[in-house]
Amino acid sequence: MEKKQFQAESKRLMEMMVNSIYSHKEIFLRELISNASDAIDKIYYKALADDSLTFNKDSYYIKVVPDKENRTLTLIDTGIGMTKEELESNLGTIARSGSLAFKSENEVKNGHDIIGQFGVGFYSAFMVADQVTVISRALGSEEAYRWESEGTDGYTIAPCEKETVGTEIILKIKDNTEEEQYGDYLEEYRLKSIIKKYSDFIRYPIKMEVTSSRLKDGSDSEFEEFSEEQTVNSMVPIWRKNKSELNEEDYVNFYNEKRYGFDKPLKHVHISVDGTIRYNAILFIPENMPFDYYSKEYEKGLELYSNGVLIMEKCADLLPDHFSFVKGMVDSEDLSLNISREILQHDRQLKLIAKNISKKIKSELQSLLKDDREEYETFYNSFGRQLKYGVYSDFGVNKEALQDLLLFHSSKEKKLVSLDEYVSRMPEEQKYIYYASGDSIDRIDKLPQTELVAEKGFEILYFTDEIDEFAIKMLMSYKDKEFKSVASGDLGIEDGDGKEEAESAESEYKDLFASMKEILADKVKDVRASKRLKSHPVCLSTDGEITIEMEKILKAMPN
Ligand code: ADP
Ligand code: MG
Repeated sequence: MEKKQFQAESKRLMEMMVNSIYSHKEIFLRELISNASDAIDKIYYKALADDSLTFNKDSYYIKVVPDKENRTLTLIDTGIGMTKEELESNLGTIARSGSLAFKSENEVKNGHDIIGQFGVGFYSAFMVADQVTVISRALGSEEAYRWESEGTDGYTIAPCEKETVGTEIILKIKDNTEEEQYGDYLEEYRLKSIIKKYSDFIRYPIKMEVTSSRLKDGSDSEFEEFSEEQTVNSMVPIWRKNKSELNEEDYVNFYNEKRYGFDKPLKHVHISVDGTIRYNAILFIPENMPFDYYSKEYEKGLELYSNGVLIMEKCADLLPDHFSFVKGMVDSEDLSLNISREILQHDRQLKLIAKNISKKIKSELQSLLKDDREEYETFYNSFGRQLKYGVYSDFGVNKEALQDLLLFHSSKEKKLVSLDEYVSRMPEEQKYIYYASGDSIDRIDKLPQTELVAEKGFEILYFTDEIDEFAIKMLMSYKDKEFKSVASGDLGIEDGDGKEEAESAESEYKDLFASMKEILADKVKDVRASKRLKSHPVCLSTDGEITIEMEKILKAMPN
């Protein structure tokens, strides 16, 4: 039987390509710049293998030239260029990636720097342009060719003049570019901001003529406009630099430049992992809570880069909810991207990275708690509640990760203590970790239920946050010590005298208790003589798992 090839309706395919792959039109610039960067990389790789070629990094660049009058945007690169055949096959065949082929043909070993792989990015230019012209001269060739297309109708190729090796791409920008509020794709500041956003860490300079104004010579009030060529991108990402080259200020600048927050970060974590999965990350723990932190509007996530090219602004999967306050970025060479480079194809790598990052944040917080209590408490005042929510909301899955990071007020010294501190100073005869819930420390101090425990000299944790008791119920115990509300019926405190007294009181005032019970019939389950009260005449206690405080909160919750 004869095997037939699939036919593709290339016009339709092209339309789909242009209009449905990408969710943001502005990424056309990212795609074209990435191609230019790949083209320069290819000269670099060629030079590695060929002694007759030299690669002097300074002579390679990418240039972006907007021309408002003619409504064109031109991208110039000094890369490897394309021959006539290459223009035809690479730009004339949808999903043909010359870059992917280059990697295998040239056995580029550490070729993970080369970005291209799908053979579709180039066509994103048609999202913003009616016409695209590519003028290219390949390395080692005397001839240059002009490739031209208006999109779905096909393309033309003709010989032309070009002095130097490289490629020039001229986009005739459509009239009605949307997102007008940001300015269109011929506005200097718009272009600059797109380059900064996606292509800041392309390793070659991206140059642009930039106009600014300055004081006129000899004048102190008159300004004049002038323009000069600037390199718009930072080129070397801070996360690829060696930690020893960087100081605190560099990280703070990065935090501000990236607008992760308007405060000063409390702490940064710089991670470089070179194992089964390779990635770099810079994470920040902010000092202050963002104003919308505990609202629905707050979006957690880290910036995700693939090889220095931004692919996602807020990758939520990289952070567990209990660390949603962490800001920063991750860059990895090992992500398998989908065709739009906007989402990931398999999230295995991502999961690995996320797990790794979570561990790192935890150990970082732990050492902060150990080494700088004051800073940790600043952090805890901002985000402690989120950690407690974390313990509560995942049914104990993250118990291990989070329990050591919790702090509570305590009857001892009236300051925040960790569970570890509490347990380590428990007297031997103390069986439980005691806690009392209430609106404020003062009010808890006055609770009759705390008396017996306090008199025994046992420390009591003061739960003033609604979530506290719920979180503790999830933990159940810490280092084999169970939590016990001071309001619960059995406090586990041996008190012989009290017991006898209570028993005799029980029989002596039997009738009184019976009539009290009758009067309070629908309010209490039982009335008993207490063995725990010292100076207070009466207190409420509970038998079950739900304490009075919890009940109040549950009742107040909307159904
Ligand atoms: P990809 O970059 O994923 O390979 P593209 O559609 O972006 O796909 O580009 C297709 C191919 O066209 C590239 O693989 C490359 O071979 C070639 N190409 C595109 N732009 C340039 C350029 N500026 N210089 C040299 N070759 C280029
Ligand atoms: Mg590309």
